[in-house]
Amino acid sequence: MKFSKYHIVPELKKSLDDLGFKKPTDIQFKSIPQILSGQDILAIAQTGTGKTAAFAIPLISMLQQNKHREPEQNVKAVVMVPTRELAMQIEQVFKELGQYTDVETISLIGGVDIEPQVEKLRRGVDVLIATPGRISDLVHKGHLNLKKIDFLVLDEADHMLNKGFYNDIKHILQFLPRRRQTLFFSATIDENIKDLAYALVSKPVRIQISPKDPVSKNVDHAVAYVAMDDKRFFLERIVKEHPDQKILVFVRTKVRAERVFKAMERVNIVTATLHGDKEQEDRFKVLDDFREGRVKILVATDVSARGLDVKGVEYVINYDLPDVAENYVHRVGRTGRGNNRGTAISFCSEEEKPILEEIETYLTQPIKLMSIKKTEYEETLAISEGHQNDWQSLINENEAMSKQKKKKRK
Ligand code: ADP
Ligand code: MG
Repeated sequence: MKFSKYHIVPELKKSLDDLGFKKPTDIQFKSIPQILSGQDILAIAQTGTGKTAAFAIPLISMLQQNKHREPEQNVKAVVMVPTRELAMQIEQVFKELGQYTDVETISLIGGVDIEPQVEKLRRGVDVLIATPGRISDLVHKGHLNLKKIDFLVLDEADHMLNKGFYNDIKHILQFLPRRRQTLFFSATIDENIKDLAYALVSKPVRIQISPKDPVSKNVDHAVAYVAMDDKRFFLERIVKEHPDQKILVFVRTKVRAERVFKAMERVNIVTATLHGDKEQEDRFKVLDDFREGRVKILVATDVSARGLDVKGVEYVINYDLPDVAENYVHRVGRTGRGNNRGTAISFCSEEEKPILEEIETYLTQPIKLMSIKKTEYEETLAISEGHQNDWQSLINENEAMSKQKKKKRK
């Protein structure tokens, strides 16, 4: 069924048309009518399946239809998300979808001047997007009254628990009105999530889209055996063979991220890094550069890239395999989003083979092997600019060192 046939306000049909969304995704198809009919829902669907619009479309439509805001109603809908980056991303989706409506959305994030945000809340907005920590803080300080909200959304609920927001959510729960519509979205489900979910929803409709293969069918993914020390040459080759494409590179740790950055710098490849050690401002900037395509290669850790939706990421490289098998699905899910296709390649060293096995067990099937011929492997190392420049860089390093020594002597 096309969006044009849906019982949603015409302003939304227009923006959906602008965005090029013609048909709903599976999760949208199943959730939107239920949400419009006032049901609580508990929805589980993989990464990149359009969960954001699954709640944003019906919410915007209902908010546009009923514009009346009661006195002291700070907000009508609260959307809880695990990270600030996601808060901004989802705010963007609400703004794009709601561009022809009067629905007002704000995201509140830490680390910025709070006064203007509080002022906006005092005047009232329709949709508020923030992390549970932020919301709990605002309620605690008396800036936010939740007693009159109509809708509560929990997005990426599994990640909220990973980020340790359980207690914040419990805290917020006391301030919520009993009569409200609650929408619960998660990519994965386990016992912890179930407990939280059932504490929040009442008589929910359960929607689960879980095909046998947890990796999105739009992602073509394979593994290549590459020795730990040779990984940088293979990354260099892939990057140089795809000069115009956006590539997201995953590494295991912050230190590894910086190391890859340096290794690429040596072969004249510009990358940016995203990880937990960076200042918030830096992280926003890096992400923005990547979104806008000013930087084509982003090297990130698992946590920092959770749930991100960046347009045009054609490649995901698992430079290191993820420690947790489930994260494999989250990582490769950064590409092949919506109706787009994507490619993911994992570098697996000898040491990482046990992890590969775990991942394959989790996926319940082997990952396609990209076999590299010996000659091709050697060629990859040989054509690296790093090798061509080896003499030059040694000379440069020597010169730099002797200069430093001279300085010290002075
Ligand atoms: P999820 O939260 O399930 O991981 P997102 O909500 O971030 O996924 O959406 C993934 C991508 O799919 C986004 O880039 C979005 O613009 C696109 N998308 C969502 N719904 C549709 C649709 N009905 N038609 C085409 N593209 C869509
Ligand atoms: Mg999402």
